[in-house]
Amino acid sequence: MDLSTLIRPNILKLKPYSCARDEFKGEASIFIDANESPFNTGLNRYPDPLQKELKAKIATIKNVAIDNIFLGNGSDEPIDIIYRVFCEPNIDNVVAIDPTYGMYKVCADVNNIEYRSVCLTNEFELQSERILEKTDQHTKVIWLCSPNNPTGNLLNKSEITKILNSFNGIVVVDEAYIDFANKKSWIEKLPEFQNLVVLQTLSKAWGCAAIRLGMAFASSDIIQFFNKVKYPYNVNILTQQQAINQLSKVDILKENVAYILQQKDLLIKKLENISIVEKIYKSDANFILVKVKNANETYTYLTQTGIIVRNRNNITLCDNCLRITIGLSHENDQLIAHLKTFAENK
Ligand SMILES: *Cc1c(COP(=O)(O)O)cnc(C)c1O
Repeated sequence: MDLSTLIRPNILKLKPYSCARDEFKGEASIFIDANESPFNTGLNRYPDPLQKELKAKIATIKNVAIDNIFLGNGSDEPIDIIYRVFCEPNIDNVVAIDPTYGMYKVCADVNNIEYRSVCLTNEFELQSERILEKTDQHTKVIWLCSPNNPTGNLLNKSEITKILNSFNGIVVVDEAYIDFANKKSWIEKLPEFQNLVVLQTLSKAWGCAAIRLGMAFASSDIIQFFNKVKYPYNVNILTQQQAINQLSKVDILKENVAYILQQKDLLIKKLENISIVEKIYKSDANFILVKVKNANETYTYLTQTGIIVRNRNNITLCDNCLRITIGLSHENDQLIAHLKTFAENK
């Protein structure tokens, strides 16, 4: 793969903004280079633009080099940056699976990039040949999501490998839910595939959706271009500190994941006994996709009881499906109780 033919020409020759904290890196006692306030509010200094302390922590946990990590304002930022680095508006295109996470399409539309989707099988399996068939010389990126949202399943490893080997462009594997799956991350395959970008987030298993921290893992060459394009101080200091704090609690993460997985099994068993439930799809995530007799009616009933699930009725292959996030035990119990009442009164 020749990265220079994949990167947009304007990005290839871009001279990034150089901020004060980029230009001076040593130790000093007086900082009068950045027009900051000298009064200590605890927040008066600009944060590290490359988030090195936080990245060191992530590097240890994920077993990658710091140079292979990009951090952004949620996963939304790396998703958008991937378009801005690789895809020429009005010329290039991307290929994605359907159904999948909605942001890939929204960012394609914002950036004026053609978005081609390829339907999964009825069991939500990835078919690599069908994806590859959809590509042409202007296809720069293939979007994969594993475990996939909203279907919940991991995509087949050998199908992803075929795409990585055959496609002469960037393959993104979004692993927002990987901490709930009992399979290894694609991060360990980065040395093998120069065209692989793996996305992860602190928003799900790590319990920090509010701080907005998304992670992209890729070759250092790719990461350098992401760093050139990002806003200089894209991850604020409060987020960096909270992330460092949270990432020190790996034991809590494991406990919470185990709790969610146990609750998921329980919820599935209880749902199976409810008459309006037609199918529960296999889930490798912290949510389940459930086909019911009438998703719109069920959804409306649940909202009236104060329970909000995600109605996926209008999504490809998801007719009459609700996406249900696993909650605390008493929350899941209430969902079951209300669904039972609804089913019995039908
Ligand atoms: C929730 C989710 C994310 C996380 O987005 P953030 O911007 O990091 O909160 C990313 N990808 C998928 C598929 C998701 O479902």
